[in-house]
Amino acid sequence: MSHEGIRYISKEEQARDEHESRPLPRIAMTPAKVRVLLTEGKGLEIEWQDGHQSAWSFAWLRDACPCATCVEERKNEGRKIGQPKAKSADLLPMYQPPAKPAGAQPVGRYALQFNWLDGHASGIYSWEFLRRNCTCAECSFATAEAGSLLH
Ligand SMILES: [Zn+2]
Ligand SMILES: [Zn+2]
Repeated sequence: MSHEGIRYISKEEQARDEHESRPLPRIAMTPAKVRVLLTEGKGLEIEWQDGHQSAWSFAWLRDACPCATCVEERKNEGRKIGQPKAKSADLLPMYQPPAKPAGAQPVGRYALQFNWLDGHASGIYSWEFLRRNCTCAECSFATAEAGSLLH
């Protein structure tokens, strides 16, 4: 028997969903400047047309991959977008180089795609996705506020 279509969500998730679906003005989702700091290995920086500036580390971006496989994996592990995988205590600590892409290319006019060195490249990072997941203090605070509204 399939329970598809039935979705149980917590109040917190509901608040987050509402926050995530709140409409953004077009200028907030249109980059004025995009910089992929490949050689520095730092990450992605975007200056938006509304003047807001965002920056993400490559590690964050890899753990935020919006492809179906990664979304499913995060859901199963209860991880948030950009949250690294929990290191298993049973395993010997293994050195893992921080995620880095070999390159990045625009997808149409609405997104960016990374070719990660681990071979993964199916994530399409739309401008809207990036702006909604801006990690600056101001935006992180706004997201946390939305999550606590119903408590
Ligand atoms: Zn992915
Ligand atoms: Zn921000």
